[in-house]
Amino acid sequence: MTPSLRVYHDDDISPAALEGAEVTVLGYGSQGRAQALNLRDGGVGVRVGLRAESASRHLASQDGFAVVEPTAAVAGASFVAVLVPDEVQREFFSGEVAPNLRPGAVVIFAHGGPVHFGDVALPEGVDVVLVAPMGPGRILREYYVEGRGLNAKVAVAQDATGRGWPRALAYARALGCGRAGVIATTFADEARLDLFSEQAVLCGGVPALAEAAFETLVAAGYPPALAYIECVREIKYIADLMFEYGVDGMRRRISSTALYGGATRGPRVVGPEAEKALKEILEAIEDGSFAAEMKKRWPGREEFLKAVRNDGLEAAREEFEKTVRRAESE
Ligand code: NAD
Ligand code: MG
Repeated sequence: MTPSLRVYHDDDISPAALEGAEVTVLGYGSQGRAQALNLRDGGVGVRVGLRAESASRHLASQDGFAVVEPTAAVAGASFVAVLVPDEVQREFFSGEVAPNLRPGAVVIFAHGGPVHFGDVALPEGVDVVLVAPMGPGRILREYYVEGRGLNAKVAVAQDATGRGWPRALAYARALGCGRAGVIATTFADEARLDLFSEQAVLCGGVPALAEAAFETLVAAGYPPALAYIECVREIKYIADLMFEYGVDGMRRRISSTALYGGATRGPRVVGPEAEKALKEILEAIEDGSFAAEMKKRWPGREEFLKAVRNDGLEAAREEFEKTVRRAESE
């Protein structure tokens, strides 16, 4: 049996659970900023919780938010959104969030991973819910301002008050996600699907394929800046078509040569070996070994970024920016 979806739109969601709520947004990065701004525009009372040494304090104040120490911000709120990076949530949640939660408060996560993989222990007497916008914070904000919405997934891990679902849905609606569709799921499924899509496709498979194709062209003697345009930048136009019309709809809108070449060569690139790798990647997510590996091996963001940097591709991009793009903007 194919599992069916429960989907909520603005009309299906009562905003009542958020009326008079005091909302604290912890962290002011990609999601923190977008969520705080959307909530405020919808008339919700928001404050931002940040450590004294946080680099984001300036921006949050500049945007007009009251910025408070996380411990006080948590203690003063009925809704607490945990929007700090996943890898710091273990320490941050047990140290600054859990001990200060009011009984009956609701804690909102934007990704199911830390709870599902056991980094965050659920404190008693509070609701623990997931409201996971399905896209970057920048787009969550942009769509909201345009009167559109981003899809979101919602789930309830702990329902101490019996109001977990209406609270999660009202919060998702206030972010603008009810305009697009809010999908009920579980922490476990959200954590697994989010990791799998970013590893297999979005941040793993697609960039790795673009890099390999770029290197094939450069090794064969083609100009790197041209290879960069062909293999990296043009992804956007095809992605936009798939976003709007699906894979089949994209195929209907490309040239016959692209259609024939793509459909006959694609399966050579993604063959049995790739299918085996995809299955193993999913298994490592499901059995928790990916989460354990990352915990053991993560050296910190800057160090990791340095280790995976592709110098050849970066040089090609710089050349593109200096030569082709300069001409574009003149
Ligand atoms: P981010 O890295 O953009 O921002 C995190 C913010 O947390 C920083 O701006 C800072 O204010 C604060 N912070 C950083 N280190 C801290 C520490 N050690 N202690 C306390 N605070 C600290 O994070 P993000 O990408 O917005 O991710 C937040 C949550 O949203 C995560 O659970 C993530 O999985 C989820 N999420 C993110 C996106 C996205 O668009 N990036 C999309 C969906 C869900
Ligand atoms: Mg993700």
